[in-house]
Amino acid sequence: MSTLKIENLHVEVGEKEILKGLNLEIHTGEVHAIMGPNGNGKSTLLSTIMGHPKYKVTNGKITLDGQDVLAMSVDERARAGLFLGMQYPQEIPGITNSDFLRAAINAKREEPISLFKFIRMLDKNIEELGMDENLAHRYLNEGFSGGEKKRNEILQMKLLQPRFALLDEIDSGLDVDALRVVAEAINSMRSDDFGCVMVSHYERMFELVQPTHVHVLVQGQIVMSGGYELIEKIDQEGYEWVKELGYEIE
Ligand code: ADP
Ligand code: MG
Ligand code: MG
Repeated sequence: MSTLKIENLHVEVGEKEILKGLNLEIHTGEVHAIMGPNGNGKSTLLSTIMGHPKYKVTNGKITLDGQDVLAMSVDERARAGLFLGMQYPQEIPGITNSDFLRAAINAKREEPISLFKFIRMLDKNIEELGMDENLAHRYLNEGFSGGEKKRNEILQMKLLQPRFALLDEIDSGLDVDALRVVAEAINSMRSDDFGCVMVSHYERMFELVQPTHVHVLVQGQIVMSGGYELIEKIDQEGYEWVKELGYEIE
């Protein structure tokens, strides 16, 4: 079993403190849902774990099986088994999707993957995700629809087989059929060797990928943790009730 542990995490973005002493512990075999009103630090948390330079850690620790994640480069974090499926995947003209995917796979291996094996794996996953096969040969995310970008993030996850996947609003922009396909892909990854953190606003996603743990992130802290009942409460009542706990919501 692997453990990703976040302790007393404080993070600033552009001089403003966004995460204010956040604690979270995730083990492989678990799926953690994170919900919370917009602008409260969900993407900040996931991007900080992956090492995005925009986010400045001013205090606290992130460890993966005791190893200091904050001391690692983004590449080292990926090699250690961390993966981020981004809320807004970037368009990268000039590099094809398949070249990018092969480079990402090879970065995690000692010997480069054979072209034959790579293409077989790519084709299989593209088909399973119901993606247009041309997307493999186009420039990375360039002109992809919102849903295609999200499916492409899941394609990356499937090919890279991370130990911990951090999925940021992976369901936004997906129609009902695509949502089911993506949920099945996430469920197919579930095992004792895989842990997942999923940020989403919608119960629909969590109906399909049943989380083992649920957290509410408000004002840069986890203010409540529980099970599926928390998702139902938020779906029905929104976040007004969080104010009664003494937290302000803008
Ligand atoms: P969430 O994912 O929960 O919607 P984010 O983590 O994306 O929230 O954003 C948290 C806060 O950080 C927001 O208030 C946002 O406006 C702020 N923020 C993001 N980028 C910057 C920046 N470059 N400068 C200042 N504040 C920023
Ligand atoms: Mg948001
Ligand atoms: Mg966000």
